[in-house]
Amino acid sequence: MKHLRVLGQKSRSQDSAYTAVIMDITAAVKNAERLKQNEIEIAHVARVATAGELAASIAHEVNQPLGALVATGGALLRWIERENPDIEKATANARRMVGYAQRASDIVSRVRTLFERGSTTFEEVNCRDLLSGSFAYVEANARRNRVAIVLDIDDGLPSFQGEPVQLQQVIINLMVNAVQALSQFNSTDRLVKVSARLCGDRIEIACLDNGPGFSGDGEAFFKPFHTTKQHGIGMGLAICRSIVEAHDGKISAGTNPSGGAAFRVSLPLTHKASNLKE
Ligand code: ADP
Repeated sequence: MKHLRVLGQKSRSQDSAYTAVIMDITAAVKNAERLKQNEIEIAHVARVATAGELAASIAHEVNQPLGALVATGGALLRWIERENPDIEKATANARRMVGYAQRASDIVSRVRTLFERGSTTFEEVNCRDLLSGSFAYVEANARRNRVAIVLDIDDGLPSFQGEPVQLQQVIINLMVNAVQALSQFNSTDRLVKVSARLCGDRIEIACLDNGPGFSGDGEAFFKPFHTTKQHGIGMGLAICRSIVEAHDGKISAGTNPSGGAAFRVSLPLTHKASNLKE
């Protein structure tokens, strides 16, 4: 089968004369068909890749409230199963469990927005609430690993525009990573310092630990699925970068001057309404 393009024209000078051109366009038609098929395949692969990243990030992010849920549920059972059950303490644990479950569900829906091209509404975020709220989630894990987390927040920091659950996710990820790095490290003085300062029209948040640190520039840590941990997923910092960049901010990995790792996040106080993107 051949595809032909035929163009014909009646001659202007001679009444009965026609000029015709016949072109064999078979190769061009076949190429166009192949191109279309490739585009369909690429779109499919991109969708599958996004779904894979989405699944991995949800697994990573939801792990933390689920862990808290299991620990609090265990404590609740212990308060009830005592000879004299302590209903007040059990109720407090049950309330906390509802909060953790709510957080897990919030994370699922908000991580999903990271992969959609939809706009997210930003609200006023208070830096002290952001850091102390994140600390509350990591505190028990830090204590178990004998790691002290110190918050050092400048007084009178102005509030800024952001998406509080996602920003909390960033800070929790940085704190959990620091605690994990220190838990493998042979040291009696295990310290994570999280600070917040105003620098011009930006809020600068830093998470410094005195753990083993890393060699190289640390840029690779922000690539999806890059992990050096035996059971790591390697999505934490990739998610952090997506969230921070959706806030017109920057995140970088560096070295703590007194040894260990330093992760720095810089966020503008205000910015144009931004679209969260993949
Ligand atoms: P995961 O925790 O699943 O490995 P992340 O994206 O959170 O995924 O981290 C990627 C890698 O960055 C880690 O595997 C580790 O090598 C490195 N990293 C992150 N935080 C620290 C830290 N505080 N100290 C040393 N290395 C770190």
